[in-house]
Amino acid sequence: MVPDREGFLYPGVDMDKCVSCGLCEKVCPILHREHHEEKTEGYIIRYKDEKIVEESTSGGAFTAFATYLLSKGYVVYGAGYGKEMQVVYKMASKPEELHEMRGSKFVQSTLGNTFRTIKKQLKESKKVLFTGTPCQVSGLIRYLGSKPETLICIDFVCRGVPSPGLWKNYVTMMEKKYNAKMVGARFKHKTYGYHATTMKIDFANGKSWYGSGRVDPMMKAFVSEMASRPSCHACAFKGAGRQSDITMFDCYEFSKLTGMEDDGKGYSSVLVHSQTGKKLLHAVEGDVCKIPVPTDRLIHENGIMVCNSARPHEKRNVFYDAASVMSIDKAIQKIAPITIRDYIIEKAKRIIFLTGTMKYIRKLKKKQNVKIVKQERQSGEQL
Ligand SMILES: Cc1cc2nc3c(=O)[nH]c(=O)nc-3n(C[C@H](O)[C@H](O)[C@H](O)COP(=O)(O)OP(=O)(O)OC[C@H]3O[C@@H](n4cnc5c(N)ncnc54)[C@H](O)[C@@H]3O)c2cc1C
Repeated sequence: MVPDREGFLYPGVDMDKCVSCGLCEKVCPILHREHHEEKTEGYIIRYKDEKIVEESTSGGAFTAFATYLLSKGYVVYGAGYGKEMQVVYKMASKPEELHEMRGSKFVQSTLGNTFRTIKKQLKESKKVLFTGTPCQVSGLIRYLGSKPETLICIDFVCRGVPSPGLWKNYVTMMEKKYNAKMVGARFKHKTYGYHATTMKIDFANGKSWYGSGRVDPMMKAFVSEMASRPSCHACAFKGAGRQSDITMFDCYEFSKLTGMEDDGKGYSSVLVHSQTGKKLLHAVEGDVCKIPVPTDRLIHENGIMVCNSARPHEKRNVFYDAASVMSIDKAIQKIAPITIRDYIIEKAKRIIFLTGTMKYIRKLKKKQNVKIVKQERQSGEQL
């Protein structure tokens, strides 16, 4: 796999060794798109352990499924961190090893030899849970040729993935700024509750950085759609029907969907696609609170990215050009500057959060957003 100028990995073929068997094209999930039944069931769930929910992106759905399957002898694959903070695939065979897989990493994760290892393990009658983006799940199933009963796949709704090269740029910039090695990263830390996305970075010298998409250059690039892989803007794996057994995603509209109060700690939305998925959800029932919700409502209220690809920022390519020759913070300043006003608002956030006024401001912002979305729909634009 060879990085391009933007830092995304693409397969490089050694033409001296290629025997033109065509297998790479035969297994390609883009060239052979599959149609999947849209008969899914929708639920909102939250794991029983509050500490785990705090560490998780939404309601800890991943940990609920993975912990149960580990107890049944499965090994679990998910994204963790390498020595240089690269986002890489790891295998867990004990619950303690799930810790670093928890939390969304908004970076394309590197699979390495994961598919090859899984194939070998399945051949040796091991049971495997694979978690990943919809394209990674599809890639694994096409690579294996079919989905054996001993393989369970859980994907998540994915807005897009920034490049490993951009993340490396960010890590280097932050380590220079803090004069210390980065030792931890949480892209959606619940500093100000589930509804506010905060990047939390920990350094070896004990210092930490907290910043939302308003002031953190990596988060800003991600949320304003400057950073995703080009293919993410025409994602081939969208839709309610999926190859996975279960799909997990955020649940921002808990109150609207259930009529109950949202405590701001986070709930997960899940779509169950297969009999295996149904059995798994049934098996974890004692470990989660579970509320059934009609699938179309769950998708309509929470899951805009279930069926839609995000539109790229108009200056996406200019941003990547800049980031290929300078640090990410300087590249952001060129394209969409972070201003003093942004830093003041960010500081004020803490006071607003502590005084409890945040939820009123959020309601007001939501009303404004609904108005914008309605206007966009009326003008026939794709979301
Ligand atoms: C890149 C990305 C984009 C996303 N976009 C959306 C979106 O637009 N809308 C939405 O509703 N939800 C989105 N999600 C999903 C959401 O953030 C949560 O992952 C989901 O709600 C499950 O949360 P949890 O609390 O159950 O799990 P967590 O404990 O947060 O579990 C995280 C799971 O995600 C896996 N994971 C994390 N990062 C990566 C990665 N880079 N590559 C492969 N696997 C990874 C872990 O291995 C683990 O299985 C996205 C997640 C990622 C990683």
